[in-house]
Amino acid sequence: MSGLRTRVRRFLQKPGTTDLAPHEKLLPAIAAGEDDLAGVADESLARRAVAAADDAGFCAVGREAARRALGERPFDVQLLGTLVMLDGQVAEMATGEGKTLAGALAAARYALRGRSVHVASVNDYLARRDAEWMGPVYDLLGVTVGCIGQASTPAERREAYAAQVTYAPVSELGFDVLRDRLATDVADLVTAEPDVLLIDEADSVLIDEALVPLVLAGAAGEADADLDMAEIVRGLRPGLHFQTDDEGRNASLTDAGAQAAEAALGGIDLYAADQIETLTRLNVALHATALLRRDVDYIVRDGKVQLISSSRGRVAQLQRWPDGLQAAVEAKEAIAVSDSGEILDSITVESLVRRYPRICGMTGTAVAVGEELREFYGLEVAVIPPNRPCVREDEPDRLYATLPQKEKAIVAEVTQAHTTGEPVLIGTLDIAESERISRRLTSAGLPHVVLNAKNDADEAAIIAEAGAHGAITVSTQMAGRGTDIRLGGRDGDPDQIAELGGLYVIGTGRHASSRLDDQLRGRSGRQGDPGRSVFFVSFEDDLITSFAPDAAEPQDVAPDGRIGDAGADAVVTHAQRAADGANLEIHRNTFRYNKLIDDQRQVVLTHRDRLLRGDAALVALGARRPDRFEELSETLGEAVLADVARAIVLYHLDRGWADHLAALAEIREGIHLRALGQGPNPFVSSLDPLAEFHAEAIKLFASLLEQVEEQSAETFDTAPITDAGVDLDAAGVRRPSATWTYLVRDKPFDMSLSGALGRFAGRIYHR
Ligand code: ADP
Ligand code: MG
Repeated sequence: MSGLRTRVRRFLQKPGTTDLAPHEKLLPAIAAGEDDLAGVADESLARRAVAAADDAGFCAVGREAARRALGERPFDVQLLGTLVMLDGQVAEMATGEGKTLAGALAAARYALRGRSVHVASVNDYLARRDAEWMGPVYDLLGVTVGCIGQASTPAERREAYAAQVTYAPVSELGFDVLRDRLATDVADLVTAEPDVLLIDEADSVLIDEALVPLVLAGAAGEADADLDMAEIVRGLRPGLHFQTDDEGRNASLTDAGAQAAEAALGGIDLYAADQIETLTRLNVALHATALLRRDVDYIVRDGKVQLISSSRGRVAQLQRWPDGLQAAVEAKEAIAVSDSGEILDSITVESLVRRYPRICGMTGTAVAVGEELREFYGLEVAVIPPNRPCVREDEPDRLYATLPQKEKAIVAEVTQAHTTGEPVLIGTLDIAESERISRRLTSAGLPHVVLNAKNDADEAAIIAEAGAHGAITVSTQMAGRGTDIRLGGRDGDPDQIAELGGLYVIGTGRHASSRLDDQLRGRSGRQGDPGRSVFFVSFEDDLITSFAPDAAEPQDVAPDGRIGDAGADAVVTHAQRAADGANLEIHRNTFRYNKLIDDQRQVVLTHRDRLLRGDAALVALGARRPDRFEELSETLGEAVLADVARAIVLYHLDRGWADHLAALAEIREGIHLRALGQGPNPFVSSLDPLAEFHAEAIKLFASLLEQVEEQSAETFDTAPITDAGVDLDAAGVRRPSATWTYLVRDKPFDMSLSGALGRFAGRIYHR
């Protein structure tokens, strides 16, 4: 499109946004097309939809279908969103603007043009809700729709993927790709070629969750409970024996700490060449103890460590820490160490997304990450104005010196608002905080609901009532995202609540990104509703202590702790910018490491696909072992022999890839430890860690396929082979008997110990 214009506009004002004018021009034609459709029978709409000559023509039919199916006539701004997504961009549309419908119309248009569309949702609940909710619209348009959830069987998945439009949580899309990569029979595959991906809550998926590796693991065993290391670390004192950086991402031993640990370990030299493994284990234990906080980063429940997702602020189901860290935390908490699994393969959300030739999306907050979306995905953002102007009042932050003073002030504020029945939504940063606030509210005699449901459906039901008269809802960050908060709740009177001022959103602290603040504010003031929002911040908040540790002490502090210094709010802004920048750096860094692994994986997968779908395996083995080939070809048919060869080579290829991943993780860990090394560490490397990693990884990969073929030939020689196929068990090679899928939590630290790949502890989900 108008590339120059876009660039000029970007240069002039809104970085990362594109021009809506070309789409706006289509609105009159869409409106005109609508009159024409009034008399068309339901049964004929689908034909009109297929026949639509252009996007405008389709939008007219789509609008008519939505009106008939849902009783909701899409607003112009919703159709602008649809057009933006048809252009392969991200539409920024505020909460409550009706993105579900705008996205569905875009998906339908793609489908009618012969493309296969996946709509990625944040969770199972939303995938199913949206597929069902939009079902009647798709019906009228003659588009088939399916949906997938965690519990879907392979047959159900195959059927859902066969539909023109498939709704699924991002993680399930990823797990299906991973499982398909291990298929040994074409008939077992469930996914098809990726084509169009339409992402709801796009910033959350593409930025916040982008680095989360989805893991497929098998062959479980017992993880080592490193109780000794946990014990040693327990005896170390912060400051004296170890230091953490301000951002809480790294912990390192001081000289005194190293000496203490060496003494405890019987007088070894921790930095000796043969102690690298001990040093690694010690570091993992140190991280578990010094950097991971109970009730902030994880909770202990039912004798298990359960991770808390930093971007959603609630228990992250099916998530683990990598690299023995899980076991180290379990050791720290003195609870039973969970089983460990070997990684067979893994894919980050980002790599998953990038497989699709066409990506588009929608969210309430995209502009703030416009540059990242372009850098990592080549995506542009278009800002869609609201249907009715937003009249929510966003008040300036209220700053307090200490945490307790801030929390007291929050409760006073809620008490005040509650006297009129004005509904209040309190957004907290973590579970521990929501529990503290809840206790304070209880002491103040304020009835309230804490959103800590383990189940997305319950969560949605609770959040839907947050706009009811007198409601006080305490919720962690992302809870209930995707659920509409109507004034009055589901059955109350919206006008009554509007009179009271609408929904009052109180943030108990600024997030690490202003975008997340905006998400929270956006829960109020939907579709022109009245509302207000305010954030309470204390100078003891993690954001400030971590990212603005050198901020000047406030001078003008009232008896209740309220800070009056001019410029104090600049500290908050500064800290937030620093946090945002740090996250971006982590993203860039991880991206660089993963890029090479992704490229190598692609080579392996292309090769694998050839093996899976043809007789390339037999050709290769026949060439390597002509005598054995001849001998078997007497007794067995070619078809049987081809199956045998395929089973053998696929086994060794998958085995080889898993080993390669483990080796890469180890290389990365080693390089990083050396780079981190201080003082007595003889491994200090002058090399650029990334360049070193690349060099090693490429060397290792060069021989991978060759080795796989040779190992396969050896198995071909020795394994018992009969009419019934090859007995891999008897040959001592066996596929992992079970596979599990899980997510590894977003990198807790900026170091390879939490690297995307490695030895993972824990078995989560058995299928
Ligand atoms: P978003 O995802 O943008 O936050 P939703 O898709 O959840 O918004 O829709 C919010 C609410 O607006 C829903 O209750 C939906 O039924 C309603 N809605 C959407 N489009 C329209 C429309 N054109 N007219 C009336 N209501 C609409
Ligand atoms: Mg939504």
